[in-house]
Amino acid sequence: MPACCSCSDVFQYETTKVTRIQSMNYGTIKWFFHVIVFSYVSFALVSDKLYQRKEPVISSVHTKVKGIAEVKEEIMENGVKKLVHSVFDTADYTFPLQGNSFFVMTNFLKTEGQEQRLCPEYPTRRTLCSSDRGCKKGWMDPQSKGIQTGRCVVYEGNRKTCEVSAWCPIEAVGEAPRPALLNSAENFTVLIKNNIDFPGHNYTTRNILPGLNITCTFHKTQNPQCPIFRLGDIFRETGDNFSDVAIQGGIMGIEIYWDCNLDRWFHHCRPKYSFRRLDDKTTNVSLYPGYNFRYAKYYKENNVEKRTLIKVFGIRFDILVFGTTLKYVSFVDESHIRMVNQKLLGRSLQDVKGQEVPRPAMDFTDLSKLPLALHDPPPIPGQPGEMQPLREEATPRSRDSPVWCQCGSCLPSQLPKSHRCLEELCCRKKPGACITTSELFRKLVLSRHVLQFLLLYQEPLLALDVDSTNSRLRHCAYRCYATWRFGSQDMADFAILPSCCRWRIRKEFPKSEGQYSGFKSPY
Ligand code: GDP
Ligand code: ZN
Ligand code: ZN
Repeated sequence: MPACCSCSDVFQYETTKVTRIQSMNYGTIKWFFHVIVFSYVSFALVSDKLYQRKEPVISSVHTKVKGIAEVKEEIMENGVKKLVHSVFDTADYTFPLQGNSFFVMTNFLKTEGQEQRLCPEYPTRRTLCSSDRGCKKGWMDPQSKGIQTGRCVVYEGNRKTCEVSAWCPIEAVGEAPRPALLNSAENFTVLIKNNIDFPGHNYTTRNILPGLNITCTFHKTQNPQCPIFRLGDIFRETGDNFSDVAIQGGIMGIEIYWDCNLDRWFHHCRPKYSFRRLDDKTTNVSLYPGYNFRYAKYYKENNVEKRTLIKVFGIRFDILVFGTTLKYVSFVDESHIRMVNQKLLGRSLQDVKGQEVPRPAMDFTDLSKLPLALHDPPPIPGQPGEMQPLREEATPRSRDSPVWCQCGSCLPSQLPKSHRCLEELCCRKKPGACITTSELFRKLVLSRHVLQFLLLYQEPLLALDVDSTNSRLRHCAYRCYATWRFGSQDMADFAILPSCCRWRIRKEFPKSEGQYSGFKSPY
């Protein structure tokens, strides 16, 4: 368009012209798109809110910290202060910890050349004395580092403290150095390896896949899959300043969330990393802020055992792994087990298709361990002596039985609306007799004799008082059902009981007051 304008250009007005076309085809296409957009938006809104559970999964974690720090230490040599430079590598600043945690030292206080002898306590309001009467022979103050000898001796100048038998000289009570001696630890990096396993499904995966570029550094948006984290960046993500935390130490959580949808046609299983400061940064100074511990390096000098005591300040990183929980469902009229891992979105568990997984082969050697009560009761006169298979015809429908129930014995769930769908499950996929009417159910799940046997088998000293008995028996009955129907213990932990079985067990071993809490993930 030319830059200059003529008069006619100025007095112009532009608007869009709307053309309405009467057409069956265009009309259909228009509504088709409207419906798609509308359904997508509603789906996105609903799926984020409803039934999104975040639970721990079975996983293993392995970490490797790398980096080098130059440390400038002030030490006393023959009464003269001296500055010493030293280089700290991985072996100097990391310590093995239990569980999914690792520790990085950021600051320390050293007491060198300690040996076992008698010496005065470090002067504080508690240890100062003026004569031997202020001290007590044999007294061990939990706050102190040694056993008092009963004498009051000179510590320094005219200050006297109680003498103790201890590792001497006694550690001075001092502030952590500022800035932290290993302030440069913010440039250290940690590589996190995480393998996860979805029980019973034979699905294992890890965060480091072959071919992943290992020279990267994690960045929330630019490199969210990189498993190498710069310590300073982790603190920046939570809005903390590394140099501040480094002085007194602290605890940082690294959360790995596996959002996995294992449906065959939409296979997606990658970790998401996030961070969370776990120690209380607002605690005031007197309440032991930060994170520190002591450790000692022992050595021998002229055949005398000596040690260097180090009060270490640093950051403990706890790695917490979560994932979407799997649930297992078993119908009497199906030979396989179904694994459900998608969100239920308000649908009954009964109507969710899930994925078929084979039922684990029963190990019959276990049967010998089953309570003798199974073989035990003599045939009752008038009743058939042989075990009967589950009857073919449906159990008469009870009045409250909900629409999704196929066996006629299920009851509506008592849980709040958002969790109700998990309990809307029948023992059958198609109409027919309820499993609770079978002889095996009565013998394996409901027999008080069997359940008591199992409880005492686990805890021989268990005192079964009336109140706790029913809940112990009930929970044991849930387990019996799950182990019977799902075989593998891994699956039993995540097995969802059909409503009919749940309520039949509760009827046998009721709770005297309050609501039943229902399924809770075992991890
Ligand atoms: P409570 O006794 O009042 O807590 O309520 P419940 O009788 O519902 O029992 C709750 C316990 O049983 C929890 O430990 C649950 O994990 C377990 N539980 C309840 N329902 C199920 C289920 O469907 N499957 C499994 N595997 N455990 C269940
Ligand atoms: Zn039912
Ligand atoms: Zn049933």
